[in-house]
Amino acid sequence: MHKLSKQGTTFTKFNPVMGDIELKGDDVKDVLNDYERLKRLEEVKTNFLIVTAHELRTPLTIIKGYLEILKERNGEDDRVIRAIDDNTNNMIAIVDDIVTIANMDLGMIELKVESISTLDMLDDLIDRLEEINEIWGDKIILPTDDQILEADRRSIEKVMTNLIINALKYNAPDRKIEINVDSDGHDYILISVKDWGTGIPDEVKEIIFDDFIQFVDSPLTRDYVGMGLGLSVAKRLVKLHNGEMWVTDNPEGGSIFYVRLPKHHAGDF
Ligand code: ADP
Repeated sequence: MHKLSKQGTTFTKFNPVMGDIELKGDDVKDVLNDYERLKRLEEVKTNFLIVTAHELRTPLTIIKGYLEILKERNGEDDRVIRAIDDNTNNMIAIVDDIVTIANMDLGMIELKVESISTLDMLDDLIDRLEEINEIWGDKIILPTDDQILEADRRSIEKVMTNLIINALKYNAPDRKIEINVDSDGHDYILISVKDWGTGIPDEVKEIIFDDFIQFVDSPLTRDYVGMGLGLSVAKRLVKLHNGEMWVTDNPEGGSIFYVRLPKHHAGDF
């Protein structure tokens, strides 16, 4: 929490270690200069990330195009093509997460609010996931309940895609993941994504939602490529919608991720 006063004498900055600190005279000028410099550096870093990610996105899209031609020539089952395709999809997902995070840091995310049927959105999403991996559709139990919410469809799809892909990655191989959608009182909907996988230890349950956090405890999780951005992107997008996101243990082993969103859009996000 920052409370800056340019002409005044107090600069109050919440510091998690020291609490509120009071600064006077030249200290204030120094701190303001440092603050401005850090802010500029942060902007340069964020812009660098966006430019780099965009530069990577173009060749990746071209590679995807050529892969489609190869798939048509050699068939979908070619092991080499499959491996290149999977890794290209991973890279595209990472680049997209970086762009989303950087845009959010710059306050450049535009939310287009519309009325969304959760069943409709999940159906579309599963179709798209099946294009990435055709067996995924069979590994997902979809809800029967439909809910309508006012939100930015692209953001909510991104949140759900990240949660569903994680659940599929870490699930026990012989189990399906389960998605549920319920009304939570009059004003909220509660979406859950349940898996029977590796589970998440209590001590990392909160920090896995931070940027670049990955937790690796078994050879299974080590196999998966990622930058630890998926959950962070998801949580930020949910927060932009004035919602909440958290994870609990599945009592039968594995995890349940929850997303709680307001049904109605109230004012600016
Ligand atoms: P990544 O892109 O690396 O998967 P995420 O932010 O999506 O990053 O996830 C962060 C970490 O949280 C992962 O590296 C993984 O260790 C853990 N994680 C996420 N979802 C699950 C899940 N459903 N089951 C077990 N671990 C998970």
